[in-house]
Amino acid sequence: MKKSQLSLCIDVPLPDDILDEVVDKAKDYALMNGLSMHSSDCFDRNCVKISRFTLLPTSFPRNEFEKATSIQATLQKLMHKVAYNQDFLNNTLKSTIKVDDFTAELFKIYKTVYEEGYAQSYSLGLLRSDYLLNGDLEIKQVELNTISSSFAGLAPLVSNLHKFVLSELGHHDKTKNLPENYSCVQYAQGLIDAWTLYKNTEAVILFIVEEITCNICDQRAIEFEIRRVNPQIRVIRRTFADLIKQAQLRPNKELIVGNHIVAVAYYRTGYQSTAYTSNDVWSIRLLIERSRAIKCPSIQYQLAGTKKVQEALAQPGVLKQFLDESEITKVLKIFTGLYALELNEAGDKAVAMGISQPEKYVLKPQREGGGNNVYGTDIKIVLETLKNSEERNAYTLMEYIDAPLQNNYFLGPNNDKNTLVDLISELGIYGIIIGDENDIKVNKQVGHVIRTKPFGENEGGIIAGAGGLDSPYLI
Ligand code: ADP
Ligand code: MG
Repeated sequence: MKKSQLSLCIDVPLPDDILDEVVDKAKDYALMNGLSMHSSDCFDRNCVKISRFTLLPTSFPRNEFEKATSIQATLQKLMHKVAYNQDFLNNTLKSTIKVDDFTAELFKIYKTVYEEGYAQSYSLGLLRSDYLLNGDLEIKQVELNTISSSFAGLAPLVSNLHKFVLSELGHHDKTKNLPENYSCVQYAQGLIDAWTLYKNTEAVILFIVEEITCNICDQRAIEFEIRRVNPQIRVIRRTFADLIKQAQLRPNKELIVGNHIVAVAYYRTGYQSTAYTSNDVWSIRLLIERSRAIKCPSIQYQLAGTKKVQEALAQPGVLKQFLDESEITKVLKIFTGLYALELNEAGDKAVAMGISQPEKYVLKPQREGGGNNVYGTDIKIVLETLKNSEERNAYTLMEYIDAPLQNNYFLGPNNDKNTLVDLISELGIYGIIIGDENDIKVNKQVGHVIRTKPFGENEGGIIAGAGGLDSPYLI
């Protein structure tokens, strides 16, 4: 069957001489504006390389884009209510934590701080809801990220780059179809709002980071924006290893790092099991969660972002406890089939579906950060191995979203030949939410990104995988 295809915003292929010139300009534009990252295989603190990106923006149905932006606040409210609902998290995760060590460790921390009583009632969510278009060109949610949502710092640069390229190619009139994007300023503002709520002008914002941060420009863009908007605020960056040496909790639950009091703890790591290299790292995570610092995300928000919670919310009737009828109708439209693999009749049925038609599904463990999912005939192999064991509770079976292809020039740090390639694009909508159990203070949609990958690649991780940055051209 031929896949559906969306056409690019201008006629291609471009003549070679024009293409070479515009690619040269686009690459320099990317370098000069920080659409760049550290190389993961040969890290050098003094060098960044351009990120992969598409030369032209990706055509995206305007209606569906607006559907995605307008539903963001509802999805965020839903996440917030889930995060603050202990019974729901308990029931949803209880079979998974028996077999999935990583989720179990997170849950242990959650249970500890919940039972002690949260020292900080507020959570900050910097979220990103991801979508693929299906064969009917309707958005379907891939997942909702509640921790370390990336590229809000770089996404506005991509829109600007695409506007520049369109103008260079004589299509300035088309730039009006690229929606405004303020994700960087707004993510900074979310962190500033949380800092303000903490009410201590001496306190800092702590970015908790990996030992080596490839995506440095994305993170620094947000950090530098914070200083620009409010020159009073200091951001410090620390790894878990640094925090093991420097972090302490005062009796009043203030989080102290070196000489600094931390108002906001923003995780740009900690979503992947490999970040927890020792029990000391788990102890530091617990220490931070126990503190009065406002966490982004708090442990309960991280758990609300698991695939298992996404699966639970897609089951009939479940949304009723969180949303009203009109909200539910809208939310169900963007969900796609999500099946639990519990040891019961429904779970057996889902396993049988996955084995008989593996190409129709994606099998997902409770992991974040890309590269963990199982596709195609491998699903059959994994499900046959798991068959009737409890281990299958660690997975979620999701309907495969057969996204349309689009031709584009896909550029990157290598000197590959500039040819048109078939690509698949995933829209991400950014949002901010701040609230506690009883009150949501801030809840808004703040921008977007497209992450695009070559057709045939299962995953489009931009740091590790084959993906690149992109922006929407509304049609
Ligand atoms: P992660 O937390 O690792 O980012 P995702 O659920 O986002 O996990 O899956 C990673 C990638 O796998 C997505 O970016 C998308 O490219 C692909 N993918 C995930 N779910 C589906 C699906 N249902 N249909 C098609 N592709 C999918
Ligand atoms: Mg993802």
